[in-house]
Amino acid sequence: MILQNLHTHTRYGDGKNTPEEMVLGAIRAGCASLGFSEHSPLPPELDPDGWTMAENDMARYRSEVLALRDKYAGKISLYLGLEQDMDSSVTEGPWDYRIGSVHGLHADGCYFSVDNTAAVLRDAVERCYGGDPMALAEAYYRKLSQVAEATGCEIVGHFDLLTKFNEDGAFFDESSPRYRKAALEALEALSGRGLIFEINTGAISRGYRTAPYPAPFLLRELRRRGEAICITSDSHSADTILFGSAQAAELARSCGFTESMVLTEKGFLPQKLV
Ligand SMILES: [Zn+2]
Ligand SMILES: [Zn+2]
Repeated sequence: MILQNLHTHTRYGDGKNTPEEMVLGAIRAGCASLGFSEHSPLPPELDPDGWTMAENDMARYRSEVLALRDKYAGKISLYLGLEQDMDSSVTEGPWDYRIGSVHGLHADGCYFSVDNTAAVLRDAVERCYGGDPMALAEAYYRKLSQVAEATGCEIVGHFDLLTKFNEDGAFFDESSPRYRKAALEALEALSGRGLIFEINTGAISRGYRTAPYPAPFLLRELRRRGEAICITSDSHSADTILFGSAQAAELARSCGFTESMVLTEKGFLPQKLV
């Protein structure tokens, strides 16, 4: 079985470690391969906190990962990817793969990230959606339904990221018909395109959630439609590179999956979930 993580952040974005420290962490964890997926640059007005890569760091990011690929050849395979935010206009490649993600929403003159803090999300519901959290959910999923066309991604990132602060149901009733309709319409729009949907454990390792994205009802529908999955840790530090992978595999199996996708020298290939 190939142990791999394709969703990895470094100090080029909001990660804690350098790319080389992440490589060493992956080797320690027993990974056969590791993919870097730094956040694509956003203009300062959309990223005042500076969590995305600076545009003028992109060439250095690329050359540093490619140099590490040579340095660690024979020890671990490295892939150069990007987490392409839908609001980022910077797309210059080539990339070994891209994760397409929605983090931010524009509404009524405001812009906010759905995964920033619970307070930011609460404020956005009040200020931008007239106090109706379902209207925010509908806007998020409408945007997500365009993510493949907008980013050219192979992997759809954290499908229901907007539930980051919702494990206690504080924002949305995820079983309500209105919420499920919005989510399932986005899923339908993205299905049948040969995309890979990640099961992402990142919010668990950072203490926000106890379960991976996406929710089981979405995974079961992906399975029913014959869609592919991969397991990622959305790791922001060298000691969480395979964090929660067994839990994610268990979730995948419980939703009917028998395989997950891994990136190889021959492209993406399925491997048995064990
Ligand atoms: Zn993300
Ligand atoms: Zn990420």
